[in-house]
Amino acid sequence: MNFSWTSEQVKLRMHARTVAANAVEQYGRHNDSWINGFSKGFAKEMAAHGWIGMTWPTEYGGGGRPDIDRLIVGEELIAAGAPVAAMWFADRQMGPTLINYGTADQQAEFLPGILSGDTTWCIGMSEPDSGSDLASLATSAVRVGDDFIINGQKIWTSFGESADYCYLICRTDVSGPPHRGISEVIVPMDTPGIEVRPITDMTTNRHFCEVWFSDVRVSAANLVGVEGSAFKQTMAQLEHERGGIDRLVSNRALYELAREHVDRTDPVIRQEMAKIETGYTLGRILVTREVLRQAPRGFSAATKCFCTEHEQAVASFVARALGAEAMLWNGVGRGLAYDPAYTIMGGTSDIMRNILGERVLGLPREPKEQEI
Ligand SMILES: Cc1cc2nc3c(=O)[nH]c(=O)nc-3n(C[C@H](O)[C@H](O)[C@H](O)COP(=O)(O)OP(=O)(O)OC[C@H]3O[C@@H](n4cnc5c(N)ncnc54)[C@H](O)[C@@H]3O)c2cc1C
Repeated sequence: MNFSWTSEQVKLRMHARTVAANAVEQYGRHNDSWINGFSKGFAKEMAAHGWIGMTWPTEYGGGGRPDIDRLIVGEELIAAGAPVAAMWFADRQMGPTLINYGTADQQAEFLPGILSGDTTWCIGMSEPDSGSDLASLATSAVRVGDDFIINGQKIWTSFGESADYCYLICRTDVSGPPHRGISEVIVPMDTPGIEVRPITDMTTNRHFCEVWFSDVRVSAANLVGVEGSAFKQTMAQLEHERGGIDRLVSNRALYELAREHVDRTDPVIRQEMAKIETGYTLGRILVTREVLRQAPRGFSAATKCFCTEHEQAVASFVARALGAEAMLWNGVGRGLAYDPAYTIMGGTSDIMRNILGERVLGLPREPKEQEI
């Protein structure tokens, strides 16, 4: 087995590193840049490099490149803090989902805008009473002629305010068990009846939003996949979302900056840095295994748990190692305030451990009340 990178991969990494450095100079450095670094300008630049849809099949306008190339580019850009957020969800999730489940018309209508970096997508999944238990979601889409009429509320919708489209997970049938009757519908965000209110988080960022749908009329042609059977589709998307390099490198730039400032002769600092470096190396192996599709089914839950807990360890280390300076210094306080988010978004660590226990290890499941 050969563990070294090919010369093309090394070249790609160097190119991505240069692009990332220029982007940081132009747009500033963002921690968690795949969710907090929003720039339409940089999305267009990514498109020009062929770095949106780089792994999608060529017949859909993608680059047809191996998944490992996307990992290389993503690692370099996010580790440096380059603002990839305007295209990240669409590149990571919406494009591949439309390629797998969308109709030819949907692919023709929506993929070009994603590939050119022109359109931003948000994901309307979580609701005020439905987060971890997604099957309980209540936002309804009722078929009326050739349209759906949508009513309900979503919350924590990242980029709800700036997105062109919402990839909405909604209920189209209430008659069966909760996980049946769920569908996925593309909703243009300029459709009448949508109200968006940004939520300010602890770091003062306003990327996520509450989104209300009041009698929002959308063509039934925007249904993705089979009506009422989207639960598996959604779970497959989440599986794909959880094991990526974005879960590991969000705080890397902060760590690199801090490394230059901390007292590296202090044995406690040295010990903590060794732990972080080891954690990064292990996380990278886990992510690489996911990307190469060598991990067992469901294992991305373990990868996400490990990587996001590593991100928290980095934020905590940087703040402790810099002491009082952390309150004033470039992004450290922000990093610390933001760190609970890592183990919540994309599914909490508790839920990841449930998935591991029940679905990967096959441990006995605690019966729900109605099953006793
Ligand atoms: C930065 C950020 C961005 C986000 N972006 C989006 C987005 O773009 N779109 C979107 O739809 N959502 C988004 N979310 C929402 C996120 O997916 C949910 O917050 C997450 O799934 C948890 O749901 P909840 O907040 O309702 O918590 P709950 O599900 O109410 O959980 C509360 C607590 O109970 C625990 N818990 C719940 N059920 C169980 C169980 N069965 N076993 C053990 N413990 C359990 C949880 O671990 C958690 O600690 C985002 C969240 C964050 C923080």
